[in-house]
Amino acid sequence: MSQLDLKVILEALQKVLPQEQSCIGLHEPYFIGNEWVYVKECLDTRWVSSVGKFVDNFESSLAKYTGVNRAVAVVNGTAALHICLQLIGVKAGDEVLIPSLTFVATANAVSYCGAIPHFIDSEETTLGIDPKKLGNYLDSIAEIKSEGCCNRKTGRFIKAIIAVHTFGHPVDLDALYQVCEHFQLTLIEDAAESLGSFYKGRHTGNWGKVTALSFNGNKIITTGGGGAILTQDDSLANLAKHMTTTAKLPHRWAFNHDQVSYNYRLPNINAAIGCAQLENLPEILSAKRALAEKYAQIFQQIYGIKFFTEPDYAHSNYWLNTLLLNEDYAAQRNDLLELTNNYGIMTRPAWTLMHKLPMYKDFPRMNLEVAESLESRIINIPSSAFLV
Ligand SMILES: *Cc1c(COP(=O)(O)O)cnc(C)c1O
Repeated sequence: MSQLDLKVILEALQKVLPQEQSCIGLHEPYFIGNEWVYVKECLDTRWVSSVGKFVDNFESSLAKYTGVNRAVAVVNGTAALHICLQLIGVKAGDEVLIPSLTFVATANAVSYCGAIPHFIDSEETTLGIDPKKLGNYLDSIAEIKSEGCCNRKTGRFIKAIIAVHTFGHPVDLDALYQVCEHFQLTLIEDAAESLGSFYKGRHTGNWGKVTALSFNGNKIITTGGGGAILTQDDSLANLAKHMTTTAKLPHRWAFNHDQVSYNYRLPNINAAIGCAQLENLPEILSAKRALAEKYAQIFQQIYGIKFFTEPDYAHSNYWLNTLLLNEDYAAQRNDLLELTNNYGIMTRPAWTLMHKLPMYKDFPRMNLEVAESLESRIINIPSSAFLV
């Protein structure tokens, strides 16, 4: 069997990446604007904690940028997903469809609700859920009853789908939305990786009833740690705010709470960084696109491996740049990881698929052959905005 020349791939990466850095990370934050100024204002005014003007500004700027009606800032993306699931009424014993190819937070959030993640295959052109394969699968296992979509195999209700925009590339939202309508499922978008990514000209996060964002340190913009819930629905946004702020009833001095809920607030000092980062987002996006274009160009000439580019309908943020080995060379993936990391270029495989993790191995799932193939061939490569 023929082998890929891994040296050629290493040299291609070296040609794109800056030479002066001895170690290049996968995705590092980029602070070029008002971060210091806004953080200093928090410290000077002592408004560092659970409320403040930066929280309000960050929420309204996020809503404006993404084109949704409301944004509610929270402590991280996992908390955003946890609340999203509760907002749409996911209860213990319900099933929630999620791709097996995702970060573990998607599955964990479902588990926090006592619900059951049910693993779905992905497609190679988007790296996200394959709507057609999903529709066929649901035709074979689901039955629409008056209360909703029932899994005939388990007897449980399937309530929702969480669509993940993998590495920032939008899933086929229109097609997926149709599947949701047909099977009476609520769509949630896990847009943790897709701030700045557009589907047919509209920002991701506009198809889900509710959407989760993340501002972890490795995401396209960061607040240190943070997240947000997006929705068009004012009453859901108000409920999200209530549930993430201990369900305290407004009063000048009394502490009354009307339900068991969460302290999932994003502190003002983190939101301050978020406000500055959001001002720089257009610049970050264009730098990242320029880097992706360099990669695309150089890897066009290299046999046996391809640089993943945005689907036709999308304008992606290129959050994490991705190489896909041809199937014939998947066996060389670890050697390539070893070689590039030895040369100070950080590369990483895809996450281990959810259904292979010990705590999720016995959960319901469809045929996952595409996700399994992708998992064996994906390599993420350095993607920071300042590398260009
Ligand atoms: C980062 C991420 C999350 C979770 O975000 P945190 O802020 O780290 O909790 C959820 N889903 C996906 C797909 C992510 O990449």
